Amino acid sequence: MFKICTLVISVFFMASTEIYAWDLGEEGKFHFEKVNQNVYVMHGPLSEPSAANQGFMNNPGLVVSDKGLIVIDPGSAYEVGIEVLKEIEKISDKPVLAIFNTHIHGDHWLANQAIKEKYPDVKIYGHPDMITQANGEQGLIWVDLMARLTEGKTKETKVVAPEFAVDQGDAIDVDGQHFRIHSMIPAHTNTDIMIEHINSKTLFLGDNSFYQRLGRFDDSSSMLGNIKALEYALELNMNTYVPGHGLTGTSDIAITPFLNYVIRVKDVVQTGFDDDLQDFEIKEKVIDQFSDYKSWEGFETNFGKHINNMYLEIEKTAW
Ligand SMILES: [Zn+2]
Repeated sequence: MFKICTLVISVFFMASTEIYAWDLGEEGKFHFEKVNQNVYVMHGPLSEPSAANQGFMNNPGLVVSDKGLIVIDPGSAYEVGIEVLKEIEKISDKPVLAIFNTHIHGDHWLANQAIKEKYPDVKIYGHPDMITQANGEQGLIWVDLMARLTEGKTKETKVVAPEFAVDQGDAIDVDGQHFRIHSMIPAHTNTDIMIEHINSKTLFLGDNSFYQRLGRFDDSSSMLGNIKALEYALELNMNTYVPGHGLTGTSDIAITPFLNYVIRVKDVVQTGFDDDLQDFEIKEKVIDQFSDYKSWEGFETNFGKHINNMYLEIEKTAW
């Protein structure tokens, strides 16, 4: 009898979390999962923004304090933020007190608008250069890009930039939850902050790391800087690391595979460069050495670009 009851209860529980998760059809069902003490992450799809995923693709984070909530990177659009808030409310109905934005890429912060609308007193933190860029041309570029890629699914989205600047070494306390800011730029962009939740030894890496997904490096990024930022993150010796995309876990999951990828790209490009090869020749020569990353989302589209990005950086340092 006990076993049957347990079975019924667990089937009900599984069904209820499934039913109430945000259902994006073929993209999957999404809800917050506990990753550490009072820390939760909603792991987004690994795909690029599209009408099917409504632009949702990042990993919103949530820290629960006594009187409220702290959100890290709420998502990619106003409309996505509404859905993320619904999922947050299944974890806790406390008010959102603060938001941290890890960097300028719109898939991480354009959902600020939905949270600010519901909680006008929320304090939004970001790197000073992210604040400048979000309030300038970059903010508008990201709003337009997201609307285009999702075929209009994010059309109500407007720029709501962070108002509070934070930088390397800053300490922020929110209702008894202690955060420390780590900023090693340029890395993924020239606006990155990594957010350490001291209470639980969790580090939110932003897009300085991915798992089972490769993204692009933009004009402001540095692959060599990204290596330094991840080596620095490893030295912090956290219990839990949250990448911008892909699974949360120990450093073995959330840092080392991506770090090794970037280091391997650096090594093969340096060797090719020393042998007077061009970037496309290096790509052809070494692609088989990356077979363990071929299953990662975005490998096909990004690998050649990564070789080119690294080539340009190594060329610059050679002069
Ligand atoms: Zn990014």
